[in-house]
Amino acid sequence: MRIVIANWKMNLLSKDIEAFCAACVSGYKPKAGVEAGIAAPYIYLKDVKAKLGPCGVKLYAQNAHFEAKGAFTGEISMAQLKDIGCDGVLLGHSERRHIFGETNANLVKKVKAAREHGLMPVLCIGETLEERDGGKMFDVLREQLAVLKETGAGPLVVAYEPVWAIGTGRVATVEQIREVHAFVAEELARNGAAGTPIQYGGSVTPDNFAEIIQVPHVAGGLVGGAALVPEKFLKLIEQAQA
Ligand code: PEP
Repeated sequence: MRIVIANWKMNLLSKDIEAFCAACVSGYKPKAGVEAGIAAPYIYLKDVKAKLGPCGVKLYAQNAHFEAKGAFTGEISMAQLKDIGCDGVLLGHSERRHIFGETNANLVKKVKAAREHGLMPVLCIGETLEERDGGKMFDVLREQLAVLKETGAGPLVVAYEPVWAIGTGRVATVEQIREVHAFVAEELARNGAAGTPIQYGGSVTPDNFAEIIQVPHVAGGLVGGAALVPEKFLKLIEQAQA
């Protein structure tokens, strides 16, 4: 299975979202074996759901708390995401890890909670440039994937996103992607998650995706900047479907 997800981050307003969803409704042509999704800001999730209607594009949140309910002011639970019709949730995006202090320990709880509530967890992993240059890349990725030893088996998507390639316009080379995706596939198998789809993310655009999607063990993309433009998002989906 391939899966292309637009990560809107903290972008777009109601009027943009209306136009984006209308473009999906008229332009998205589902094809077996390829899923498409939008990870929208919390406050727009219900709106996106309603505007997408039954067109087949799935709905993702960009994060969630691991507790089902309680005194956690400002947080959103997996139960609440499920309640409003979410299909999945991004977990451990590098911006959550590096700006908001997301930890692997919390991610164990979040992956479990997502599964308990029937949401597809998309576990994001990736090394910083410093870690790559310092020869620590594989250790970092191994540690991030070790979360899966504690979660046990279950539905999962992994997104490999080198931190230095996110939002920078500096996409990893095909050789770098090939090397890491092969490693991630092996680690997933070692952690009891063989066959998990592995997305690539980091400055993906319609200009580079057709080549990236052909790399072994690349099963789609997690896309920020380019996926703020509906025509580009739809083009990326078509490239995954080709
Ligand atoms: C992302 O949001 O996960 C991402 C990869 O962003 P961009 O495509 O803008 O690099």
